[in-house]
Amino acid sequence: MSYRRKPDWLKMRPPSGQRYTEIKQTLRDHDLHTVCEEANCPNLGECWSGRDGPGTATFMLMGDRCSRGCNFCDVKTGGMEPLDPEEPANVAEAVAEIGLEYVVLTSVDRDDLEDGGSAHFAETIRQIKRRDPSILVEVLIPDFAGDPEAVDRIVEAGPDVVAHNVETVERLQWPVRDRRATYEQSLAVLERVSETADVYTKTSLMLGVGEYDHEVYQALSDLREADVDVVTFGQYLQPSRSHLEVFDYVHPDTFDVWERVAEEEFGFMYCASGPMVRSSYKAGELFVEALLR
Ligand code: SF4
Ligand code: SF4
Repeated sequence: MSYRRKPDWLKMRPPSGQRYTEIKQTLRDHDLHTVCEEANCPNLGECWSGRDGPGTATFMLMGDRCSRGCNFCDVKTGGMEPLDPEEPANVAEAVAEIGLEYVVLTSVDRDDLEDGGSAHFAETIRQIKRRDPSILVEVLIPDFAGDPEAVDRIVEAGPDVVAHNVETVERLQWPVRDRRATYEQSLAVLERVSETADVYTKTSLMLGVGEYDHEVYQALSDLREADVDVVTFGQYLQPSRSHLEVFDYVHPDTFDVWERVAEEEFGFMYCASGPMVRSSYKAGELFVEALLR
């Protein structure tokens, strides 16, 4: 069953508490940005507190402007700024100060840079690991315009999980994503990571953009073929009137079905699936839980 009006299960609770305030202050002190805050993520309270396992926060690297313009995404397009050479050290310092055990690093796309920003991204991973090798690092990387060397550069820096989002089923890549992003290219990135390193791979799809069940099923099959370990499903929410419209609000029971299909039928290591789930939703807790299964 699906709905067109925003249903009750998507109502958000504002984050609060001492841990939330402390983390927020540390981020301000280091002049850093998290997707958690910028995207006003509904899971902030849960992720940052890490009540049942390692807390998770998602740092946004390489600025707040993207060289692409996906129709679902609220990040500003164009007007790219030079990279901040201090950023890798600043992020590593903030991670240590906050006491995060699991950190997610992501970035805007930087098609304006020759290496897509892969060296800067890799340096951030190295700096975090150098300070404390026990911190688990998940990276959510761009497709680097299909450049395998850029992907290798990230993997060589030693992350624990490499994520790259296909975002939606094959047919809807456009109009959902920027035209430069393609389904094949994203699968190739994930495949490259699985083939070249002993690292976990992960991807995410949004539901509610007009996909059919058989297309989601096909995507799961393609992702397993590319040896992807973890998949997440969340509800697409329209950030503003100028963004892609929500096609429908998918019922939580349907998300549960996809979780079962992904784990039991396709053998994914785990699947996080729910209306509020985002790629990095409780990533630390769920990853550690899956490892212990
Ligand atoms: Fe947003 Fe990523 Fe698309 Fe850039 S490439 S517009 S950050 S989803
Ligand atoms: Fe941050 Fe991701 Fe959790 Fe949202 S789901 S609060 S972006 S770590």
